[in-house]
Amino acid sequence: MEKICVAVRVRPPICHENSSSTFWRVDDNQISLHKLHGSPISCVSYAFDHVFDENCSNSDIYELLTKDIIHAAVDGFNGTSFAYGQTSSGKTFTMNGSSNDPGIIHRAVNDIFQKINIISDREFLIRVSYMEIYNEEINDLFAVENQKLQIHENLERGIFVAGLREEIVNNAEQVMKLLESGEVNRHFGETNMNARSSRSHTIFRVVIESKGKDTGSFGDYSSSDAIRVSVLNLVDLAGSERIAKTGTGGVRLKEGKYINKSLMVLGNVINKLSDSAKQRAHIPYRDSKLTRILQPALGGNAKTSIICTVAPEEIHIEETKGTLLFASRAKRVTNCAQVNEVLTDAALLKRQKLEIEELRRKLQGSHAEVLEQEILKLRNDMLQYELEREKLEMELEKERRSHKERDRYIRDQLMMIENLSSLVSDGDGSSSQGSMKESPIEECNNRGDDFKTPCFRAAPKAFVAKRSNYSQLPDLSPLPDSFSDVADEDTWFKINKGYIADLDSLQTTPARKVQSFPPEDVTPNYLNKKYKTELQNLKRRLELVTEEKNELQRKLAEDIEVKDRLKGDISKLKQEALLAREMPQRLCDSVTSFKDTYEEVLSKMQRYTFDGKSSTAKLLRCICEIGSILFSTMETSISNTTDRHKLSSRNDSLIQEYNKMLSEKLKSTITSLILSETASSEDKQTKTPCSCNFEVAAWSRYHVSILVLFFVMILGYFVSFFRTLIF
Ligand code: ADP
Ligand code: MG
Repeated sequence: MEKICVAVRVRPPICHENSSSTFWRVDDNQISLHKLHGSPISCVSYAFDHVFDENCSNSDIYELLTKDIIHAAVDGFNGTSFAYGQTSSGKTFTMNGSSNDPGIIHRAVNDIFQKINIISDREFLIRVSYMEIYNEEINDLFAVENQKLQIHENLERGIFVAGLREEIVNNAEQVMKLLESGEVNRHFGETNMNARSSRSHTIFRVVIESKGKDTGSFGDYSSSDAIRVSVLNLVDLAGSERIAKTGTGGVRLKEGKYINKSLMVLGNVINKLSDSAKQRAHIPYRDSKLTRILQPALGGNAKTSIICTVAPEEIHIEETKGTLLFASRAKRVTNCAQVNEVLTDAALLKRQKLEIEELRRKLQGSHAEVLEQEILKLRNDMLQYELEREKLEMELEKERRSHKERDRYIRDQLMMIENLSSLVSDGDGSSSQGSMKESPIEECNNRGDDFKTPCFRAAPKAFVAKRSNYSQLPDLSPLPDSFSDVADEDTWFKINKGYIADLDSLQTTPARKVQSFPPEDVTPNYLNKKYKTELQNLKRRLELVTEEKNELQRKLAEDIEVKDRLKGDISKLKQEALLAREMPQRLCDSVTSFKDTYEEVLSKMQRYTFDGKSSTAKLLRCICEIGSILFSTMETSISNTTDRHKLSSRNDSLIQEYNKMLSEKLKSTITSLILSETASSEDKQTKTPCSCNFEVAAWSRYHVSILVLFFVMILGYFVSFFRTLIF
């Protein structure tokens, strides 16, 4: 067991602030915050394995912090070295360096090749890969087409990124060229703090395989045949500052949230690992891709060093404190590194050994350099084929798993259907425990390969019931594919202020559930009872639905009856409406015939009025006049009535008005006639009374009264008729 080696590096100030009131002071392996006049600020002092001030070089850092890990990696130990800190604090400078001060990666690569060249009793195979984690997606920096790669784990290879291109290399220059080409594909962005700020975490991975020389044949797996396989990760993390500090929005903001999310998980993992062993219930490695890939390096089988870079400026004081707190916690993490030896074909070196020997034999006599180049090329080709094969195998495995899943689901469904149907047919379910009937579908799936069309044989019910229920228990933390929620300001403080997240509340990786006995609710008896109750409920519901249906049918019959009655009423009303529409026409005909009769009567009466000057003649003329007006009014009204649009109550009032006017005219005519008649008769009586005149006067009065009566009757009849017609 050994502790993670933690160092802090203070970069030189970029701008010398005049107004700063504090500064960071480095004394040996301590860093503390001091006031400008020199007195230390209490509680802001930290001690680490190493603290490097602004005057130190990458070479110093490599010598003191990383060299041992690199040498250990050559000896077969896993190793990881990563840089943590806010943007512009010097992470990339530390890892990649500059032309006159190469960084850790450059030095490590050189060192590896130097070291393996001096080790004469072992032969080595080195392969490198370069990836970035950008917005929680793993991209291959050696092959841009390899995007969104997945993390897998198996017994032989442990945790690995599937489909990641690996290049076999045999000298440092080759690695540098590859790194240069990979750098081009990296995600950078401009932030307030750094014009070329790395927005992704990058992992440069070196796999070192080695085998003792002259250890006999490769065909058998004797202990002397063991191959050491070690993995070295050199990690340049993205900036750990608060989002507000970078002053970014849009894409930069999204990146920032993902960066903080994975750094928060890294903080949580470190926090958990720094707890005592008893409290380490569950380490949330699977909550981010970064921690999942670095899992062996964090509290596992690896030698790890962390270089925490800080900026000395006063404006960065909060970020610096946060970084120092992270470093303090990381210091408490212990790892347990051991040499990794494998005897299986997982070691590429073993698989390629015979091939290389063969090639060497063939190329004997050629120029040594050309020979080495040829070997390297062939090795790389072979590696690519292997990676291809691995990819295909993984896809096949995925297919197989989904096929099995489908198969299991269909079986469960079949069993459930069978259970239900047997319950329905048996009623009490007792016979369901009898001999097991064979499903009509023949079992053929077990024999053939997994990609045949599935055929099933029903397994015993109890077994399937148990199996299906067991299979629902999640026994492993699922790998999170995406992070919908993101870290915010609070999260940042949680990372950097020593907050330990409540890991039980993390939904993405539920702790391993172990259940040795089936719960009561998956036993066959319980299921039988459950099905019975379900069946009874269904029957009850069926009865209710039938009743409801009958009720609806009755209501429908009633409705049809009412509808028929209404239809009859409507046809009657239609007929009446037809008659009413014909009424004005008939009325018009009657008025015309009345008019004819009236004119005939009047013409006959006028023939008796001798000279036309008598009162009778006057009366007749008046009546004739009134009659004409009356009839023409009538005709107009009727024609208006026929034309339905003009029909209105105005007609009625018009007729009444006429009626009134005519009555008054008639009355006044009669009064004037009576008066003139009386006067003339008195006059005639005093002069020469004539019986003939007396007769005429009597006759006239008689006819006048008849005519008036007749006229009033007609008038009354028409007025009342019109009223009914209109309303
Ligand atoms: P980060 O990767 O943390 O965002 P960089 O490594 O890109 O920061 O550093 C930001 C700037 O500071 C770069 O221009 C780099 O050259 C400079 N710098 C960082 N650390 C040092 C150092 N120790 N000495 C000299 N320059 C440095
Ligand atoms: Mg950087």
